[in-house]
Amino acid sequence: MKKLMLWRCKTLACGIPGQDVINDGAILTDVEKIIWVGTYSALPIQFKDQIKDTHHFAKQCITPGLIDCHTHVVYAGNRAHEWAARLQGESYESIAKQGGGIQFTVKQTQQCSEDELFELSAKRLQAMCESGVTTLEIKSGYGLNFETEAKMLTVAKRLEQAFPVTIQKTYLGLHTLPLEFKNDRVGYLKLVIEQILPKLMDLKLVDAVDAFCEDIAFTKNEVELFFQAAQQFNLKMKLHAEQLSDSEGVQLAARFGALSVDHIEFISRSGIAALAKSETVAVLLPVAYYHLHAQQKPPVAVLRDNKIMMAIATDCNPGSSPTTSLLLAMNMACMLFDLTPEETFLGVTKYAAQALGLEHQYGSLEPNKVADFVVWDIVHPIELAATLGVNPCQAVIKKGSIVYDKRSFRSFRS
Ligand SMILES: [Zn+2]
Repeated sequence: MKKLMLWRCKTLACGIPGQDVINDGAILTDVEKIIWVGTYSALPIQFKDQIKDTHHFAKQCITPGLIDCHTHVVYAGNRAHEWAARLQGESYESIAKQGGGIQFTVKQTQQCSEDELFELSAKRLQAMCESGVTTLEIKSGYGLNFETEAKMLTVAKRLEQAFPVTIQKTYLGLHTLPLEFKNDRVGYLKLVIEQILPKLMDLKLVDAVDAFCEDIAFTKNEVELFFQAAQQFNLKMKLHAEQLSDSEGVQLAARFGALSVDHIEFISRSGIAALAKSETVAVLLPVAYYHLHAQQKPPVAVLRDNKIMMAIATDCNPGSSPTTSLLLAMNMACMLFDLTPEETFLGVTKYAAQALGLEHQYGSLEPNKVADFVVWDIVHPIELAATLGVNPCQAVIKKGSIVYDKRSFRSFRS
């Protein structure tokens, strides 16, 4: 006979479109997997004798574990001084020319030892875990050479071993052109495609690739060459697209069956048409929009009308989005981008899982999915987006085990 675990709660939000909360909710788990979800009174009788233990959260709401599908959590250095300069009217471009911007973070990350980088990143990941994140994506891209890109992705791998989270590792091969390749774009592309990517694959450090398609970064044609190389390894793609201008990156990504296109403030009509025909998720990053004082918003109403899946992420990075709070990003998605609270909730659960290609295991509470969920001191998931600077996370369950409980201050890190 099986030994099942029963989890009861006041309300249950499953992360399923169109479904409101279930009152007096119950989840039945068998070790790491969910086997039944519904109202407690509807629990099939045959399961009742197999229940080994019950956890009853009589006043709380349970949701799927949150998924942060776009982060640059692994980095060294701090760019608060640049932010202060920008407040005084200095432009992002002039800061970059003085050695600031991404190049500053690249230098700091290159100089940092792997252990130091791990400790810096672990602090940020701890904060994410404490606010209900059970799966996240971590991008490289502050290395620009093999050694540092491998170091960043190794740190991401070590973080997954040290914390109860699932981490998708993305090689952001085309982030910015290294200074030493200033006059040799072709040479850098060759290095990325012929050397760095294959070596990282040998080390099993890459789950997907990403690029920054923009006037100030890489062209659509350059990104296409990189994507073709990724395809040879059966890797999925993601793309920083249309953040500052329309570079037609979205159409390219959709053509390659990319997992997601991210930012997309400047997406065109034909970009939207391409997305509508694809399974590619639109990942919206409202904190970066806010922090950069950006003026152009993504066309959320048009995305909605075209039934394009929308996900929300922190974009955690030292320059344009220095936050670890997915809850803050949820609030900003509603306040700044006019998403509904329901869209926002699905954007950090179901569609965030889709943006990582993990929709069959994570993102919603349904039979056969992994038992990753969060107990919140709320009654409806609307409250997650409604509050600012409040963290109602009470407990986190990863693969069917309680890995964090605020009441007992059980820590995450093993
Ligand atoms: Zn990013």
